[in-house]
Amino acid sequence: MALALVTGGAGFIGSHTCEAFVGRDDEVVCLDSFHDYYPRELKERNLEQLRLSDRFHLVEGDVCNATTVEEVFSRYHPSVVVHLAARAGVRPSLQEPEEYLRVNTEGTLNMLRAAVQHPPRRFVFASSSSVYGCRNSLPYSEDQDITHPVSPYAASKVGAEALCFTYHHLYQLPVTCLRFFTVFGPRQRPDLAINTFVRLMLAAQPIQMFGDGSSSRDYTFVGDVARAILAAADTELDFETINIGNSHPLTLRELVAAVGQAVGKEPRIEQLPAQPGDMLHTYADISKAKRLLGWEPQVSMEEGLAEFVRWHRETALSPAVS
Ligand code: NAD
Repeated sequence: MALALVTGGAGFIGSHTCEAFVGRDDEVVCLDSFHDYYPRELKERNLEQLRLSDRFHLVEGDVCNATTVEEVFSRYHPSVVVHLAARAGVRPSLQEPEEYLRVNTEGTLNMLRAAVQHPPRRFVFASSSSVYGCRNSLPYSEDQDITHPVSPYAASKVGAEALCFTYHHLYQLPVTCLRFFTVFGPRQRPDLAINTFVRLMLAAQPIQMFGDGSSSRDYTFVGDVARAILAAADTELDFETINIGNSHPLTLRELVAAVGQAVGKEPRIEQLPAQPGDMLHTYADISKAKRLLGWEPQVSMEEGLAEFVRWHRETALSPAVS
């Protein structure tokens, strides 16, 4: 049995991860600041089932506060740390670059320093496909160059990954950096494309499509991602960086059509210029995840979209981020 500290555990990926740990009888401490990037109400709802379990503990606090982080480590002595807390979202990072560096890079530094003082058997860090930037060939593999990120968000994750290696090198902290590729599924952040498209299509409103629709993303189902996190938490490795993607990218145009089909509506599209900071394509080579973690995705895009739409209809509570 493990005691897992999951930062950002009230969020989209975090709440699924906490449920996966609790579901197999591990104890979970969730450290989350309930950042107002999207409404607290949604995060409270994410935690509804977890709060029923006596194996789930919630600490409301900020990973940027070194005292808070130190207190959590010295109180709970986690055997596994899953560090997901971050300012997510590429486009807003162009408006608030300092904030992204502070939370994503310095916040990770705080977590690593506390982990050195109270060593867990594994530290799992949530990185992103964004680190591949604009100069790599597809599909992206872990040995490619990540020195050309195209947004402050991506740069903050490159910096955090670098610190993960540094703290492994200096203090032998066993760290696994997982690079997630566009995650979707129930509880998806309201700012992300699939959530926005479903909401607008159900309201019979046009959707905004940035660029000509030929950009592509490797959409990965959140249940598969939570399984990958648990596999990484369980697998003894020194220091590794591993792609977690579906390895079946869809163009934006294909995504819009697939969402229309899942919702049962004909999409109305308003085409707008491509957004600065967005990557053109993402596509994961997942052979390393298969080899080292014995992990591969199990949920297809169609199944995942159907699951998302079912959840969305049940909750009908996914307001846009203003
Ligand atoms: P999310 O916003 O739903 O979850 C992040 C959580 O972190 C939120 O609950 C938020 O309140 C919390 N948080 C923010 N700042 C904090 C702070 N200073 N201290 C403590 N908690 C704080 O986002 P998500 O989509 O679930 O993303 C989780 C992680 O996965 C992030 O690190 C993100 O960068 C990474 N990631 C996500 C995707 C994706 O497609 N969703 C893709 C690649 C990487």
